[in-house]
Amino acid sequence: MALVTLKPKHEQRILAGHLWVYQGNVAEVDGEPSPGDIVDVRAANGEGLGRGYYNPHSQIVIRLLTRTDEPIDDAFFAERIRRARAWRARFMPGATSYRLVYSEGDLLPGLIVDRYEDVLVVQFLTLGMDVRRDQIVRILAELEKPRAIYERSDVPSRKYEGLELRTGLLWGELPQQPMVIKENGLSFEVDVVAGQKTGYFLDQKENRQALAQLVPGARVLDVFCHNGPFSVHALQFGAREVLGVDSSAQALETARRNAALNGFTDAARFVQANAFDLLRELDRSGDRYDVVILDPPAFAKSKSHFESARRGYKEINLRGIKLLRPGGFLVTCSCSHHMPADAFYELILEAASDARRPLRLVEWRGQAKDHPVLAGVPETAYLKCLIFQAL
Ligand code: SAH
Repeated sequence: MALVTLKPKHEQRILAGHLWVYQGNVAEVDGEPSPGDIVDVRAANGEGLGRGYYNPHSQIVIRLLTRTDEPIDDAFFAERIRRARAWRARFMPGATSYRLVYSEGDLLPGLIVDRYEDVLVVQFLTLGMDVRRDQIVRILAELEKPRAIYERSDVPSRKYEGLELRTGLLWGELPQQPMVIKENGLSFEVDVVAGQKTGYFLDQKENRQALAQLVPGARVLDVFCHNGPFSVHALQFGAREVLGVDSSAQALETARRNAALNGFTDAARFVQANAFDLLRELDRSGDRYDVVILDPPAFAKSKSHFESARRGYKEINLRGIKLLRPGGFLVTCSCSHHMPADAFYELILEAASDARRPLRLVEWRGQAKDHPVLAGVPETAYLKCLIFQAL
């Protein structure tokens, strides 16, 4: 096995819990590892740091899999997946659809596995995982006994790893799409082949549940509603009426079916619009709501987009706050890792100040527990969900 030695002091991030070694951290590669091979990593002073897979074509040249000298074999991956499942069983007992493996958060960097009832959807994000595709699929099939394993590696970041985008059936037989999944006791249509990402946004599960205390009797505006899960939860928790807004006609079609699937027909309305325009129009028309939900796509896809992203977030939050009746609630999210939580909080306070509407914080929330945050890897924490009352 090749041995990679880091430059002096370049081990600190790893010692603090991170799993990534950058090209710039490496002093010396002893041996001739091929892309995807397992290598040992040590600090300049000789201290062993662990073992991970190697990709000389990526800025992140090594991702650690373990900190001991255990073999990286079938038993290793099986145990990691069993532990990931035990975490979900502990924190999401009874759930039948959830993220089973969350990459670094489950100490399996580069691997995402979403369970939608008896179907697994996988993403291989890195070359180190991609070369182990057959092994991972075989182990998942043995352990989880799914009906199908479907690949959705159509993730742009794969190009940083030198990989093409890929989708397709890897194992078993895929049930007819769309299929229906359960979340918090409600039913949702999911299309694992044609839907966004792997078909559904599982990371908001607990934040949807958090609507329960906010929405009884409320008029709710669900902006960036996608397939409508926030809207459907709001209705289930007693909202009087819900208006869902999204730019995707396909998502809205599904949202309408999801409302109907759960027995809500009259109280839910879904409209196709650019959220920025619609929020402005609603403000002008004097329409007011008891609860406004803002769950936009990641405006900051990288650090360099921070300023423009900040303006985007501030704009929708300003509009959202203005649309609230006195005492109404703002549920505002950002799923961009590049928008840090404190900066997000601050821009919402600025928006509130511009709107002349003081806010009271109800709750500071994050991503659901099937997206565990590995404390030493800040990249694993990405979803912010803040709930405020606008006075
Ligand atoms: N709230 C959803 C997830 C939202 S994902 C849930 O709980 O599942 C972000 C959504 O924003 C996507 O559905 C996308 O189609 C939509 N979107 C992106 N840009 C938009 C825009 N300018 N106006 C309205 N919707 C937009």
